[in-house]
Amino acid sequence: MKQSLTERLRNDLKDLSSRNLYKVEGEITSPQGAEIQLQDTGEKRLLNMCANNYLGFANHPAIVEAARAALDEHGFGMSSVRFICGTNTVHRSLERRISEFLRTADTILFSSCFDANAGIFEALLGAEDAVISDSLNHASIIDGVRLCKAQRFRYANNDMEELEQGLKDARQCRTVLIVTDGVFSMDGVVANLSGICELAERYGALVMVDDSHAVGFIGPHGRGTPSLFGLEHKVDIVTGTLGKALGGASGGYVSGRPEIIAWLRQRARPYLFSNSLMPAICEASLVAIELAEKGEDLRKNLVERTLQLRLGLKELGYTVSGTNHPIVPVITGDAAVAVRVADHLRSLGILVVPFSYPVVPNGAARIRMQVSAAHSEQDIERVIAAFKSAQSLL
Ligand SMILES: *Cc1c(COP(=O)(O)O)cnc(C)c1O
Repeated sequence: MKQSLTERLRNDLKDLSSRNLYKVEGEITSPQGAEIQLQDTGEKRLLNMCANNYLGFANHPAIVEAARAALDEHGFGMSSVRFICGTNTVHRSLERRISEFLRTADTILFSSCFDANAGIFEALLGAEDAVISDSLNHASIIDGVRLCKAQRFRYANNDMEELEQGLKDARQCRTVLIVTDGVFSMDGVVANLSGICELAERYGALVMVDDSHAVGFIGPHGRGTPSLFGLEHKVDIVTGTLGKALGGASGGYVSGRPEIIAWLRQRARPYLFSNSLMPAICEASLVAIELAEKGEDLRKNLVERTLQLRLGLKELGYTVSGTNHPIVPVITGDAAVAVRVADHLRSLGILVVPFSYPVVPNGAARIRMQVSAAHSEQDIERVIAAFKSAQSLL
């Protein structure tokens, strides 16, 4: 007998709740920032430790003002895809500015980095080709790879031996593309780009880096992981988001050689069949990139606050994963413990989010915090003190 869909989903949802895996979306009533207000806590301000607001640009006055002025100049929406009548001069300005910032030849905008990753593999690779992907790559890369006909190989996170094996197995393929996140978001781990680029060169493969958790704040001038390693000229394709450090509204891009970008404009389906970015986002992103490029002070504070938090937690005996990235994951192992600690911090006015299966492996539940340049030394002290008082809950 057929079970009704709604009945099945009702049971599945109940099951999630009973296992502490049901995600509840807290509603924010203030602008995004180091401190926010939530619907259900009213006037009380919470210290926000879980936004991708690495540079504090989500509500930066100059960025907000640029968006406001752009609404007057360009209006609200484009009501078209790029190739029909949806290309405003500011789209091209932003594409050129991203190329200049990343020191790449050309750039194509997408509605999101998810769309950029969803479109790129199918457009560039066919059945004669191969893609070799890190096992911890972002969901959008996994989905993008699924959509293409290339042979697929996977290597354990940052495992260069397994990557080399994949390269050997893919030797007969026409084009071999290695794809990695620049920074792995659940662990705060930076990709081994030196190892990857060296192997790519030896086996004649191309390298693609998704720098969503790096662009704007990692490497010299915030140009991202390729520049952190001094390997800008060895990375063939970079994708990234405007939805994290660079203002946090939305938008994504692919940057690289002119032929690659030109081909994506002809063939990438999320580009061809989805509306073009709101011009106000583009104008504001231009200001965000300018501020990021010159943002040495912001990056310095971000590094100092990150080290302060990581060190403070380690001194308390917590297991903190990753290496000096502002993603600071505190591993609790057990999902229920992560929820208890998060609830405790929340009662102390600090917003953190517990992550558990399927977002991270079973038994590797964690509280993932993200430091922002907008956080002060006192803010981080408060977080460390809260984790101290949470020790009885472990
Ligand atoms: C956040 C993220 C994305 C998605 O970016 P959006 O622009 O929000 O779609 C893609 N890849 C990685 C590695 C990310 O961290």
